[in-house]
Amino acid sequence: MKAVLLNLLEYHWVEDLDDALILLSRADTVTVPLAGGTYLLGHDDARVQAVVDLRDLDLAYIREDARGVHVGAMTTLQTMADSPVLRDLAAGLLARAAQASSSSRLIRNSATLGGTLAIGAASQADLLTALVAMEAEALLRSGSKSQIDLGAGSYDRPGLALANVTFKGKQERQVSTGSLSQERRPNELILEVTVPRLGFGYGASFQRVGRTPADLALLNVAAVVEVMEGLYSHVRLALGGAHIEPLRLAGVERQLEGQSAMNADSNTINTRLLVSALQSGMADLQPQPAMRVGSNYRRTAAINLAFRALEEAVTISRWRRMVSSKERQ
Ligand SMILES: Cc1cc2nc3c(=O)[nH]c(=O)nc-3n(C[C@H](O)[C@H](O)[C@H](O)COP(=O)(O)OP(=O)(O)OC[C@H]3O[C@@H](n4cnc5c(N)ncnc54)[C@H](O)[C@@H]3O)c2cc1C
Repeated sequence: MKAVLLNLLEYHWVEDLDDALILLSRADTVTVPLAGGTYLLGHDDARVQAVVDLRDLDLAYIREDARGVHVGAMTTLQTMADSPVLRDLAAGLLARAAQASSSSRLIRNSATLGGTLAIGAASQADLLTALVAMEAEALLRSGSKSQIDLGAGSYDRPGLALANVTFKGKQERQVSTGSLSQERRPNELILEVTVPRLGFGYGASFQRVGRTPADLALLNVAAVVEVMEGLYSHVRLALGGAHIEPLRLAGVERQLEGQSAMNADSNTINTRLLVSALQSGMADLQPQPAMRVGSNYRRTAAINLAFRALEEAVTISRWRRMVSSKERQ
């Protein structure tokens, strides 16, 4: 049997976020967060000396406010798939991608949003592509504890000199989920993800290909589109899949925004524009080959998948606009 976390010496079950941050900031003991454990506990990493269990930190939630929908890092993939709030958001894009991320309910019941984001492309989760298309941001926090000597005050500001004062610091920042794997520092904890709220007139689509529907996605595409008065007013397109860091297809987005989504008869989608935008916007795309799939296949399949995703997102956006204008009448 494979040996895992061979050098684990400490297990911390913390109830306070600050305590977790202090433990994770230690320089003398390699300490990592433990979320659902589905990856970490099966991972052969001899460097890890301590784990900090996050389960009691109240980070499992899905809340809404004016900024959008906030999903706590300890929310499981199954909770995301079942959430009425996420099923309602952007045609259920995130809920569907969470469901597709693993065909095993056992894994979805334990695996968390934070754990999935922390592993990044290695998790091979469909969820990551959907988050990038939705321009979701992760909230990161790190802590530090240091002993400092405070100098004596001055004539204007009197004070005593103090040695060995404990100073607790905290830093927080928002990072786009698209650049999280390059930007996150090892001692930063992912607290939550904020997904901007999209208006009723937005359409979204999630498409994937795998060897079987239950298999990992060799490729996946998420599209978020708004069509207003026949023109593309907002287009976000992201591509991912096994061993691919999800990426925004900004070249395609630029070519579509401001253009006419519909043909002159205004009832059929302008597929010619879609094809030319995809072909030129994805001309330089060289997806990484993986064990079961070559780069060329991935590029050709990516164009087809993106076409289907955009087509569906346009249809949903137009249908939603029609429904809302009928309701206003
Ligand atoms: C049998 C099996 C099948 C799997 N199948 C799939 C699959 O089909 N699809 C898929 O996507 N994945 C799969 N995985 C991989 C993995 O389980 C998932 O990617 C999962 O989402 C990891 O989440 P977790 O909560 O279990 O994380 P953990 O295993 O607890 O942690 C994973 C990593 O993230 C770090 N971490 C956890 N939470 C945070 C946080 N809040 N902030 C910062 N760092 C954090 C941990 O320190 C660790 O390095 C599978 C794993 C197993 C064992």
